[in-house]
Amino acid sequence: MASRRLAELFMELARLDGQSGKEAPVAKYAAAFLKKLGLPAQIDNAAAVSGSNTGNVVCQVGGGGDFLLLAHMDTARNTSATNQVLLEDRITSDGKGQLGADNRAGMAAILYALERAVNTSSPLKPFTIAFTTQEETTMAGGLNLQLAPGIKRGFVFDSSLDPGAYATASPGAAVWNAEVTGRASHAGIAPEKGICAISIAARALAALRFGRHDEDTTSNIGTISGGEATNVVPPSAKVKGEVRSLDSAKVEPVLAAMKAEFEKAAAAAGGSLKFDWSWDFKPYRHAPDAPVCLAAAEAVKGAGLAPAPVPSHGGSDANSLNAKGIATVNFGIGARNPHADDEYILLEHLAKASEIVWQLIKK
Ligand SMILES: [Zn+2]
Repeated sequence: MASRRLAELFMELARLDGQSGKEAPVAKYAAAFLKKLGLPAQIDNAAAVSGSNTGNVVCQVGGGGDFLLLAHMDTARNTSATNQVLLEDRITSDGKGQLGADNRAGMAAILYALERAVNTSSPLKPFTIAFTTQEETTMAGGLNLQLAPGIKRGFVFDSSLDPGAYATASPGAAVWNAEVTGRASHAGIAPEKGICAISIAARALAALRFGRHDEDTTSNIGTISGGEATNVVPPSAKVKGEVRSLDSAKVEPVLAAMKAEFEKAAAAAGGSLKFDWSWDFKPYRHAPDAPVCLAAAEAVKGAGLAPAPVPSHGGSDANSLNAKGIATVNFGIGARNPHADDEYILLEHLAKASEIVWQLIKK
């Protein structure tokens, strides 16, 4: 039975040890699977810069075409020892470890659709498949993915939304670092000679607003460290955080206000500041009538579902593809409680996700 084969394929993938940065067993499995189907799987050179023990798996079907299907190979935690429980309606972990539905279910949905096409000798459109490394940590696989210049649209299968829903917008996240320098001095003998870097950071942070700024934008203090000993006026303090927004134009003003507040506090106390920031991942937003959204809606309808374009709240490889100029949406595959001990996926969702793949690739 078709759904049984898909469930088995998913469980086989989920049993592989491919924690982020160590995806080699998963890449080997996927490349062998594709080659057995007669498809030209390759492993790109991303490992040279990504730090993973493998590159991304890239497979150009029918020459590669102008669109891409993508899932990530890594899991947040090692899933190879998880006990998988196949119930009537779902595959779940036994509650003692991550199942691996995020994102091996996306891989299974894609691989099963290809096996189905080969087994039924169905004609396919030309397209490219990519299975990436390190989505859960640095996104270095997707960021360094090497694709042919003809790829214009991307379909990622890595959202925990229900099948039928797909993310057409996602926030970007900028990571900021504030490094305050004061002056060390003996806290008991000569406190007047010291400049307390922790007090400077505290004043700046107390004057700033964190949390939700507006419907698109949030900010956070992530970590704080500083000081050397109880009897030393702290000469340095480091604060790190993020600013996240669906609208990239709203990020820089928040960062600028932050920097200004730190500078003000440092200047008032005679200290100094080094402030820098960079994009962890960039936001994207597609218009409802963008070709990628129309193609997504058509595939969802073809799978017998109602198209539901929605904004997402997290980053994914879709952010990296959009930043490369490949218009990409992220399809829901229904994987629930991602990364948690009670992660599961409904068999119906797995089948629907693969049906959406099928609708995208069949001629
Ligand atoms: Zn994922």
